[in-house]
Amino acid sequence: MPLQLVTFTDAQGPRPGAMAGADAVLDLLAAGALPAGVRDMQGIIESGPAALGAIRAALKAPPAAALRPLSSVVLLAPIPRPRRNVFCVGRNYMEHVAEGDRVAGRQTETPKYPQFFTKAPETVIGPGAAIPDHGATGVTKFLDYEAELALIIGRAGVNIPRERALDHVFGWTIGNDVTGRDLQRRHGQWWKGKSLDRSCPLGPWIVPADELDASDLAIELWVNGEKRQSSRTSKMIFDVREIIHQISLGFTLLPGDVILTGTPEGVGYAMDPPRVLKDGDVVEIAIEGIGRLTNPVKA
Ligand code: MN
Repeated sequence: MPLQLVTFTDAQGPRPGAMAGADAVLDLLAAGALPAGVRDMQGIIESGPAALGAIRAALKAPPAAALRPLSSVVLLAPIPRPRRNVFCVGRNYMEHVAEGDRVAGRQTETPKYPQFFTKAPETVIGPGAAIPDHGATGVTKFLDYEAELALIIGRAGVNIPRERALDHVFGWTIGNDVTGRDLQRRHGQWWKGKSLDRSCPLGPWIVPADELDASDLAIELWVNGEKRQSSRTSKMIFDVREIIHQISLGFTLLPGDVILTGTPEGVGYAMDPPRVLKDGDVVEIAIEGIGRLTNPVKA
């Protein structure tokens, strides 16, 4: 089992942990498993190899007093409140570009450069947390899902060359780029349709980059058990190295930055007939080697 880094909460409040098997969380502060001064996931990310080494050592013989049954805690997003906007790549799988162009009646061409946009930090929610039915409030007529590989930056950098890009990745998690499609189109700039409250489920944990090659992983999404998306991360138009290279041109990436790498085909608005997310739906995303991220939609 790879190292799975979580942020969890209970009566004592949010703190960092590591999964110890499927049903328990090692409380890293209670276990004394972190370097001095490291108190949360941001600190673990900034500490990097020192923190990861200490956590791996603690997991070899976890102190019983620091183990929490998973059923007794709530997992939050691994980074519950990023320090700044979540960076995102649009139109990064060819079949998704094609389905969008088909709906819009446009000719499909391969994008020459990655399309970047952001989601506000406040959009981030954790596994199991409810995505609001923004359709029920009339804000959008078209609430939709997008399964995405998310990467967490570990080392700061600017003008990062492609061949060094993976050195800047701390780890991987799963993201759902929940979108109000009509707002995305209506306002030209995508930010409005992409930054609805609680529209960025992240988690359930971070798998460190030195334990998982994310270049060719199965990525799948279900709504109420019906499979809607199924692809592989190797089908990205701009791979993780290129994304980091391009976004860092003249722009300094910082430890703890979250980048969503785009969604494959199978989104609801391109289905015939189109399908929207609504109260009572359950959205589940699986990425091979990382895990499963499940969120209900609630009015
Ligand atoms: Mn997206």
